[in-house]
Amino acid sequence: MPFAIAITKAPIPYIGRFAPSPSGPLHFGSLVTALASYLDAKAHGGQWLVRMEDLDPPREQPGAATAILHCLEGHGLNWDGEVIYQSQRHQAYQDCLESLVSRHWVYPCGCSRQDLASMGGIYNGHCRNHPVNLAQPYSLRLKLYDIEGYASADEIHFHDLIQGPQAQNLRTQAGDQIVKRRDGFYAYQLAVVVDDIVQGITHVIRGADLLEVTGRQLFFFELLGAGRPAFGHVPLAVQENGQKLSKQNHARAIDVNAASRNLWRGLKFLGQNPPADLADVSTSEILDWGLHYWHRNKIKGLSHLYLDNDWS
Ligand code: GLU
Ligand code: ZN
Repeated sequence: MPFAIAITKAPIPYIGRFAPSPSGPLHFGSLVTALASYLDAKAHGGQWLVRMEDLDPPREQPGAATAILHCLEGHGLNWDGEVIYQSQRHQAYQDCLESLVSRHWVYPCGCSRQDLASMGGIYNGHCRNHPVNLAQPYSLRLKLYDIEGYASADEIHFHDLIQGPQAQNLRTQAGDQIVKRRDGFYAYQLAVVVDDIVQGITHVIRGADLLEVTGRQLFFFELLGAGRPAFGHVPLAVQENGQKLSKQNHARAIDVNAASRNLWRGLKFLGQNPPADLADVSTSEILDWGLHYWHRNKIKGLSHLYLDNDWS
């Protein structure tokens, strides 16, 4: 058959990442996010990177970054390449900021937390056209709408890989975003997009608490002239009493000595239906099973999911 050409589908390029903030050890919810982003990347033949989002020293816990990495390793969640630390990347954020300032897309804002509260929590653009006292601490804000010389629609649409179609209005649901804080630290919204671009991230699988900031981040990718990654938001783990698991409310740290059990529960939480006897095998066997049977559409497209018993 001289004309038979084997048509092999080129693999879709896939670079995923897990981007924990070291404000405490991993809890079950963050392990689930790590597991989902790992399995989704590896099931698509992709790379899985880890980025430490240590951008906010006042909220960091000494030793947490090391503990998180140790915990990932203990679960067999081995990342590709070197871990990137945002604390080492200030120059990249500053360079980005300067290019935004030079295009007049960023402006100083002297408003306080109370001012923001009196605007109903969504910044109304006040300092776009009111003078700011630059002798006092001020933050820098990025314009998200009505940008001179830049045609943008107020509404951003995207298809979340887990939560389905989304529409977010940047003027009424986001407002101009802080990119540098008044205390001098770079804002998460700036760093996360700069790093996702620099690292060539194609797929972001993360917790549903970040679904609401995805529209503004997508717009930011566009402003910076970068393509959009695909986003998928995994439901948050919520305790029976309705409290979400978070480092802030001191959710119990993951026990590395129960790694297989933790992975099994993670797979169950993610709707992957692991067989009962899988809970007793090694982490690498569980992950192999997870990769083989991984299906994104088995994950419930919910903002949160209740945990059964004692996973607090
Ligand atoms: N560092 C953020 C967090 O731990 C996650 C950022 C992201 O995945 O985009 O909440
Ligand atoms: Zn202001």
